[in-house]
Amino acid sequence: MNSDKLAMVKAVESRQEKFWRMSDAIWSYAELGLEEYRSAKLLADGMEAAGFKVERGVAGMPTAFVATWSHGSGKPVIGFLGEYDALPMLSQKAGVPKKDPLVPGAPGHGCSHNTMFVTQALTAVTLKEFMEKKGLSGTLKLYGSPAEEILTSRPFMVKAGLFEGIDVVLDNHGDGLFQVAYGMEGTAMVSFIVTFKGKTAHAGAFPWMGRSATDAVELMHAGTERMREHLPTTQRTHWVTLEGGEAPNVVPDRASTWYFIRDLDEMVEKNFQWALDCAKGAALMTQTTYEVKTLGAIHQRFPNKHLAELIFENIQAVGRPGYTKEEEDFARALQTEAGYPVVGMEYPLKIVSPESEPLRGGSSDVGDVTLVAPTVSLRFPVRVPGSPAHHWTVVAAAKTSIAHKGITAGAKVLALSAFDLLTDSGALAKIREEFAQLAAKRPYQSFLPPDARPPLGFYTDLMGKYRGAMEQYYIS
Ligand SMILES: [Zn+2]
Repeated sequence: MNSDKLAMVKAVESRQEKFWRMSDAIWSYAELGLEEYRSAKLLADGMEAAGFKVERGVAGMPTAFVATWSHGSGKPVIGFLGEYDALPMLSQKAGVPKKDPLVPGAPGHGCSHNTMFVTQALTAVTLKEFMEKKGLSGTLKLYGSPAEEILTSRPFMVKAGLFEGIDVVLDNHGDGLFQVAYGMEGTAMVSFIVTFKGKTAHAGAFPWMGRSATDAVELMHAGTERMREHLPTTQRTHWVTLEGGEAPNVVPDRASTWYFIRDLDEMVEKNFQWALDCAKGAALMTQTTYEVKTLGAIHQRFPNKHLAELIFENIQAVGRPGYTKEEEDFARALQTEAGYPVVGMEYPLKIVSPESEPLRGGSSDVGDVTLVAPTVSLRFPVRVPGSPAHHWTVVAAAKTSIAHKGITAGAKVLALSAFDLLTDSGALAKIREEFAQLAAKRPYQSFLPPDARPPLGFYTDLMGKYRGAMEQYYIS
């Protein structure tokens, strides 16, 4: 590293504690998608205090915001994506290497999103100071992105025009390794709820007067079960019953099921239409009616190779943080308890391509952003290696010194990468050229129906059920 880069690494370290505390606070709030009022306020207030101009409640979501700071000519414009939503049912005590909920049944940060916007904030605040000192021109734009776990916010943010004029986007995600990928990642997805309506009746005395909505849900499930037998192996199709009646002796006049249909960009719409045919068939068979509500529809991710290579150089320059004996012991205990390979805090630094690893079945709403600006996600080490996403083992590590060290290491890589983009116009030109080719091949069109709106209130009741019990553990 040259002297500028070494100074930047020191500057990240000099302010890290404050950001660790923010991450711990957001971990303690563990707010579900579109209910992240405390988390978003903490972060937006923090960016404002750091001298950024903050626009709150963007793209029709009260917990979404954009924080912007410009210097000199204002070019290039670098975007940073950051999440802060939690997952249902994953409450867990921090630093405890066995399943032990903090508040039984409550949400938890099972995907380490508590560390993610925070890492971008540490990156941007450090960059701002450095750009002022060095007289570097550019704009830093941070996207406070709610509800990633229900794959909601980014397509609406794109639709609202928030990415217009952006030159390049740095995304991040907490993980149990240090990695960056390019080419094609994950699956496209449509998330939708089908609600069937029938007729209620006494199920013993007058069953012929009723039409069961629950029967329709069951038949739709049976239909899509047969559908997926005949889809290519790239698909993932899964569902949960949201409402299925409340007593066997009352014919349910209302029942609903929530689907995720996932596949390649080229396939997902066809599979979705087939699933809708299953809904129609189920309604015909049961003489019920039905309604479909689309909660979200997102693209696969197409991260930029030149940008990934630039980030990987900085991953190698920063390297793995050093870990203490206590941290190694915690990692081993957790890996033993959960049945993962017992490797302690040993993990790879990797650059991944579609050729080097098979396509994974998960999805992220960052996909839409990768089609409107050159984008890459840095995966940075805040978990115990081996922990799969959406699991209590992630929650257990996400408020420990392991996560803190990962935040600092992630921010260093992102700050160094942004510094490269601000100072090397040739590198940025190559990244933009590659993106122009992608955009010509895959012109962006949202998968959302034209009348789609963010599903505000989707988790209000569930969050309300646990907030009271969680408050006593809030970290200020
Ligand atoms: Zn996640």
